[in-house]
Amino acid sequence: MISAASIEREVASPGGNRRFVVRMASDGAAVESVLYRGDTLCVSSQVGCGVRCPFCASGASGVARNLTLEELFAQRDLVAASSDRPIARVTVSGAGEPLHNHEVVAAFVDACRDTSPASVTTTGAPLVHLARWLAQDGPRHNGLTISVHAGTEDVRARLVPKGPALDPLFALLNDAIPRASRKRKKKIALAYLVIGGQNDHDDELDAFAARARPLDLFVHLYAYNPVPTSPHRGVDRARYEAIYQRLVDRGLRVRMSSKARTEDNGGCGTLVALRGARRGYDARDACATS
Ligand code: SF4
Repeated sequence: MISAASIEREVASPGGNRRFVVRMASDGAAVESVLYRGDTLCVSSQVGCGVRCPFCASGASGVARNLTLEELFAQRDLVAASSDRPIARVTVSGAGEPLHNHEVVAAFVDACRDTSPASVTTTGAPLVHLARWLAQDGPRHNGLTISVHAGTEDVRARLVPKGPALDPLFALLNDAIPRASRKRKKKIALAYLVIGGQNDHDDELDAFAARARPLDLFVHLYAYNPVPTSPHRGVDRARYEAIYQRLVDRGLRVRMSSKARTEDNGGCGTLVALRGARRGYDARDACATS
C-alpha cells in the first residue's frame, strides 16, 4: 500500500523531544509532528493555518489546505514506526486550526480512541463547530483546550485575528459547560499564552480571570517559545510566576507549562508548514530554540 506521506527528516533535539518533517505524497506539502517524552504525539491538521496568530510560525503564511484523514493517520503511524515505545496519546495541536478541518479531525479523534486517545487545541473557530465539540454527544475527544490568550476584545483581536471574539466565545462556554457531565468537563480547559507587552499586564489578566472564573475550568498558562517569523517575546521567569500567582489569587485553577513544552522543540506555535514542491529545509527556520 502506498503511504499518504513519508518522514523527510527528523530534527534532533537535545531536550529529548523528537521533531519530524512529514512530506505528503499527493502534492509535496510538508507539516511537522512532534513526539514529546517518547509517548505523546502532536500532529498537524492543516498545511499552514488561516487564523494567523502573529506570534505563531504555523500561521505566518496563511493556510494552503486541510490535511486528509489518511495524512493525519500517516503522521501517527510513521512516527510510531520510528519509536521503540507505543504512542500513548495524541494531540491535534500542531499546525492548523482543527475546527477548520472539523469532519476529518472528528473522524481521526474517534478512530484513535481505543489505542492512543486524542485531544484537540482550538481557538474556537468557527463557534458552530466548537458547540459540537463541547456537546455531551459531540466527538469523543480525550481533551479539548480552548486558546483564549486575552481578557479584552482588543487584545484578542490582535493575538487571534481570525478566531471568535471573546463575548460570543464565552457566551457559548457559559451555556455549554454547565451542561457537560463531570467527566467531560474535566477534559475541557482554557489556555493563556503569555506574550510580553501584549497580554501580560495586570488589567488584561484580571479581565481574563473575570471571564474564566465562573466556568471553573483548568487554565493552562503557557510560556512563549519565540519563533523567527514573529517579533514577539515571552516574559522572564519571575514575571511568569507572578502571573501564575495573580490568576490563582483571582480564583482560577492554573497549570504552568510542562518541561516538555519549554525545552527545545517544545510548544505549539513553533511548527511550520511547507507547501508545494520540495525545497531545502532547515529546522532553524522553524524554531528559535533549535
Ligand atoms: S497558534 Fe494555532 S490557531 Fe494560531 S495561527 Fe498558530 S496554529 Fe493557527
